[in-house]
Amino acid sequence: MNVLIAGAGIGGPTLAYWLRRAGYEITIVERSPELRRGGYIVDFWGAGFDVADQMGIVPELTRAGYHLGEIRQVGDDGRKITSFDPELFVRGTGGRYVSIARSDLAAIIYGALDGRVETLFGDSVRALDDDGARVRVTFESGTTRDFDLVVGADGLHSQVRHLVFGPEEQFEKFLGITVAAFDIEGYRPRDELVAVMHTQVGYQVTRLALRDDITMFLVTFVDDGSVANQGVNAQQAALRARLAGAGWEIPEIIEGMSAARTFYCDRVSQIRMPSWTRGRVALLGDAAACVSLLAGQGSALAMVEAYVLAAELARAHGNHTEAFARYEQQLAPFLVSKQEAAIKLAPAFAPRSRLQLFLRNSIMKMFGLPFVAKLAMGKSLRDAIELPPPAAA
Ligand SMILES: Cc1cc2nc3c(=O)[nH]c(=O)nc-3n(C[C@H](O)[C@H](O)[C@H](O)COP(=O)(O)OP(=O)(O)OC[C@H]3O[C@@H](n4cnc5c(N)ncnc54)[C@H](O)[C@@H]3O)c2cc1C
Repeated sequence: MNVLIAGAGIGGPTLAYWLRRAGYEITIVERSPELRRGGYIVDFWGAGFDVADQMGIVPELTRAGYHLGEIRQVGDDGRKITSFDPELFVRGTGGRYVSIARSDLAAIIYGALDGRVETLFGDSVRALDDDGARVRVTFESGTTRDFDLVVGADGLHSQVRHLVFGPEEQFEKFLGITVAAFDIEGYRPRDELVAVMHTQVGYQVTRLALRDDITMFLVTFVDDGSVANQGVNAQQAALRARLAGAGWEIPEIIEGMSAARTFYCDRVSQIRMPSWTRGRVALLGDAAACVSLLAGQGSALAMVEAYVLAAELARAHGNHTEAFARYEQQLAPFLVSKQEAAIKLAPAFAPRSRLQLFLRNSIMKMFGLPFVAKLAMGKSLRDAIELPPPAAA
């Protein structure tokens, strides 16, 4: 069987890895001219870590990742309000936890394909025609090819989803927060392996020093969703206006933003669909069931979805109808529970009132007490899912 995977992010190359092992012929199409660089740091743990382990890439992830020593909350004057040791996440997962740049994670997964998967960079799917026996794909470049299956792993704003299931608005659940992530070279001060956070009613700014004198900033702010629809200059202008008069280092951060190496801004949204498959087309990762950054687990979940989809296709000997049904049955309730849990965390990223800010800071203070943190985090650090046996030829 030959399969077209749209998207060389996290889920797409993971699916390619496992399907290739099961003897499938894979083509990946990626809109960017090369693997995407820069961007934000993701926390990587849970069942997705187990998938990475089975792919043999954990040593590389550990080398490329960061083990933070402190999560620190600071006030307007920069003084510490509270802090805790994120080691509790590492211990709570039995050491199976790493913070890593999303682009490094994606590159390591792609590297596991050993260059043996055809990848069409700088192209995209323009049209799909599923006639029941195969899918005829017309690419933006103008070429047309036939595939047995097509999988959309093309992220939150999936084109495959748009073409097969309809407009994004039907499925997007906007969570009332917009995120901006950018990185600045040579920013000072640096606090090595410390995530420094400043939170006020309406927004949060996080600073994290990375290797090679790069500092990453993550801004989450209450919004009606319109900022993300604009161009980069207008997005940065909106951010400047939103944070005007703010304390801590925010004036310097905002000034440095215009010289950022990479700048990303988008709505914090989830994707909720009644089904992720139709005919010979399936979706996975953010395209299918984005949990949003509030979940702190979207990458790991995209890998779990890819692994399960490949395992089910191999188990059903290519009977995609059977495999797609089992893929959805196993994962849909699990992902909805992750989405519900994520929504409850919204006030921690952008409190809407002084009361929410107070509660957020009080909970963070309690995290400084290891036994409270252990009690609070214990259950949420275990994924309620059992992985099926891996896809094999
Ligand atoms: C600020 C932020 C912080 C986050 N923090 C965390 C975290 O702590 N932990 C965590 O696990 N997750 C986190 N996430 C979520 C995580 O990044 C995503 O859930 C994950 O990347 C989803 O993987 P994916 O493969 O589904 O999609 P993506 O990684 O988005 O990859 C999609 C790929 O498809 C390509 N593409 C898009 N459109 C097309 C097209 N038309 N044709 C071809 N290719 C296309 C894109 O260029 C991209 O390479 C965070 C997300 C954000 C925005």
